Amino acid sequence: MKGKTALWAWRAAGWMVLWLCGAFAAGAQPAFNKVPVTSGIHRVEPPNWWVGMRHSRVEILLHRPGLQAFEVRLGRARGVVLERVVRGDSPNYLFVTLNISPKAPPQTVPLLLTHRDSAGVGFTVAFPLLAREAAPKAQGLTPRDVIYLIMPDRFANGDPSNDNVPGMLDTLARDSLLGRHGGDLKGILDHLDYLKDLGVTALWLNPELENDQAEASYHGYAITDLYHIDRRLGSNELYRQLVQACHQRGMKIVRDVVPNHIGNHHYWMRDLPMRDWVNTWPTMTQTSYRATTLLDPYASEHDRKRFNDGWFVPSMPDLNQRNPHLANYLIQQAIWWVEYAGIDAFRIDTYTYPDQAFMSRFCRALRAEYPMLSLFGEIWEHGVIPQGFFADNQPMHRANFDADLPGVLDFQLCFAIHEALTREQGWTEGISRLYYTMVKDYFYEDPMRNVVFLDNHDMTRFFSIVGEDLNRWKCGIAWLLTTRGIPQVYYGTEILSTGFEAPSHGNIRKDFPGGWPGDPVNKFTAEGRTPLENEAFQYLRTLLHYRYRTPSLYAGRLMQFVPERGVYVYFRYDEAKTIMVVLNTASEARTVELGRFAERLQGFQRAQDVISRQVLPLDKSLTVGAYTPLVLELMP
Ligand code: CA
Repeated sequence: MKGKTALWAWRAAGWMVLWLCGAFAAGAQPAFNKVPVTSGIHRVEPPNWWVGMRHSRVEILLHRPGLQAFEVRLGRARGVVLERVVRGDSPNYLFVTLNISPKAPPQTVPLLLTHRDSAGVGFTVAFPLLAREAAPKAQGLTPRDVIYLIMPDRFANGDPSNDNVPGMLDTLARDSLLGRHGGDLKGILDHLDYLKDLGVTALWLNPELENDQAEASYHGYAITDLYHIDRRLGSNELYRQLVQACHQRGMKIVRDVVPNHIGNHHYWMRDLPMRDWVNTWPTMTQTSYRATTLLDPYASEHDRKRFNDGWFVPSMPDLNQRNPHLANYLIQQAIWWVEYAGIDAFRIDTYTYPDQAFMSRFCRALRAEYPMLSLFGEIWEHGVIPQGFFADNQPMHRANFDADLPGVLDFQLCFAIHEALTREQGWTEGISRLYYTMVKDYFYEDPMRNVVFLDNHDMTRFFSIVGEDLNRWKCGIAWLLTTRGIPQVYYGTEILSTGFEAPSHGNIRKDFPGGWPGDPVNKFTAEGRTPLENEAFQYLRTLLHYRYRTPSLYAGRLMQFVPERGVYVYFRYDEAKTIMVVLNTASEARTVELGRFAERLQGFQRAQDVISRQVLPLDKSLTVGAYTPLVLELMP
């Protein structure tokens, strides 16, 4: 506690220095003034709310030097009550709670602030309560969807004029792996038709919110403003246009939400609203990265605290969601973005690292407001037990918190498919690991809500994992698009992007060739791709389109058979159709006897290969080449 106080005092002193410098040098406004609101208010967050929301008690953060010298009253408002005013530990914050009745009409609510000591001195904050728009929002993902993951700085540069923004700390450095490259939301908008043609149905962008950090700010996970899109990527209005443009094409948008931490250049770090707003330690203490401490029956409190309250990295202060005002803030900003922009799903970053009682509350609040909204969490653990522990209603739950997370990013299946395609076969190794991982699906309330993937922005590119072998790459793609769950494809997979996550994550986040004006090749077009890349592109595209029009494949039941000699066979089926998938992960061709699959093959005489369209007879056996996938639609 002593350490905490010392750190707080140090930060407060730092803020005073900063504020005094600003006051004397610039005359008035400290550097964090961004919201152009009258009367010296720097921040009103959220900037507005809506009438008719289930979350009808909105807590507004106000920030201004010396704000606590003011009393707050409500001006003329209809159906709105000023319920509570809470002061921060810093003299510059007030938290004002409005209770909005279900019958309140859209209006601008005047918050009257009057100085306690100087009669007649005051100002008004006009807080808009808007009508809700009928536009689609929070549609959620279904197993029909396929997510395409984009790192916005590295996909396409549609607006070179925003590559550098005066006053922002990190500047354009396209030749640096960790520099900003200039990609933006306009670049994504410009390629929506390409993505629609490829066959993906949802976009997950790495965080688009402001990261005004001094270095490596391009990845988006060190957020410095939870209510504004980074100006190098676009604007709030452009983000809303991107969502609308996706919806017009029948595509959805996934927001990457980061409740665990912020960037150290966030304005809170110059003026903490409350002493316990972030988790502080006597000296810099990083998390142990061991979510297992939360389920370990033998864990120490020391280890649990170190995991949950340690900082992810020194440049990302760890938020203390046990502070109820911060908790409200985080929930409200998530709701605000759904309502403002029409987001359809949240991918929840570092899901296990925040306070878990808060995470359940966060998920419940979002699902209460938007029943169709999808939520899936990043739980980068090893083994189905620690991964499934945090998911919804899993039967073996023994924690003292309710898990309310509907789905997870399925790291265990990702590790398993990697092993299947890179390791010699054995009783439990190789493809058997995939089989055994699927067996553990009983652990999830609904495994169909899990997101399956081959790689992502933090992992070695899948094509590099399989040694740049196209056949093995096809095995991975065939599995990804035919197993259970919602598949996610990382941008560049379709053009066989390569790169290892070590020594630099920049290697796995390369620019998409053709996304920048003047790029020597354009791999968004068939002419710009090599024959090998075009073969991969067409393989993926064909399977994506087949999957989209085949409910039996994406929503049907799954039956798997024990792998034999490196060959894994499973079926997706319903009343309408049966699809048979054969993955030969052995390094030589295999002849597969069909007798043991009789319970699914009954009534079928032939099968059509969905890639080549060739029709094969279903005799006693099938011969499958080394590292070869077959996706077959069975025919009478
Ligand atoms: Ca740009």
